[in-house]
Amino acid sequence: CGIVGYVGSGEPSARAEGVVMGGLERLEYRGYDSAGIAVVVPGSPVLAMAKKAGKLTNLAKLLAETPLPHGTAAIGHTRWATHGSPTDANAHPHLAAGGRIAIIHNGIIENYAPLRAELLASGVQFLSDTDTEVAGHLLARYVDGGLSLVDAMRAVARRLEGAFTLLAIDANEPHVVVGTRRNSPLVIGIGDGENFLGSDVVAFIEYTKTALELGQDEVVEITPEGVSITDLGGSPVAREPFTVTWDA
Ligand code: GLU
Repeated sequence: CGIVGYVGSGEPSARAEGVVMGGLERLEYRGYDSAGIAVVVPGSPVLAMAKKAGKLTNLAKLLAETPLPHGTAAIGHTRWATHGSPTDANAHPHLAAGGRIAIIHNGIIENYAPLRAELLASGVQFLSDTDTEVAGHLLARYVDGGLSLVDAMRAVARRLEGAFTLLAIDANEPHVVVGTRRNSPLVIGIGDGENFLGSDVVAFIEYTKTALELGQDEVVEITPEGVSITDLGGSPVAREPFTVTWDA
């Protein structure tokens, strides 16, 4: 339902988690039944993640008890369940590749059933009842096959049917967040030494008013230094930024 992504240098160190939790709070008005966040912790081979059914305050309480390590990149999600009941396990992010990769998703993957069958047949273990989880395991499969995260995301988008905004992070690429979308929005926020992704500009308006819209069937990679947009064939897409003119 609500999506936030952030990448920066990791200095000041609490930024990634703080930006993502703040963005999720700003997106709360859309309604949701669960929330979660995953963070790339530099030097760690696996991501740190916390997710919880219910209000964002449940997640905030969990994080107060067991704080996430500081990170360079993070993704956060508020879920409005369509496939699988609103439980902790079905909350996003969903992990793949043994906790190295995390994915969040707004929308519905219409062809999740055949993809799930294909992945199950190849020995993948599923941890949730969501349609989303297939996208994470597919992404992991392409990354394991040698693709970068952004190229793997492009390969995933080509195999999906339905409506999706997807964001992913990989512990092996600590300064990267990738995203794609079809029939569901994704906006990019341009910062200085940091960049943002959101399902709506309110996710990052506190930090920047310079934004770009990701087009249908495009893929974006953000790093602390820049933003690159490509189509599903991998060709670069040029897009002019706009200035968000209203105050949040
Ligand atoms: N279809 C996904 C799920 O049920 C995503 C729902 C959403 O857009 O929040 O988990």
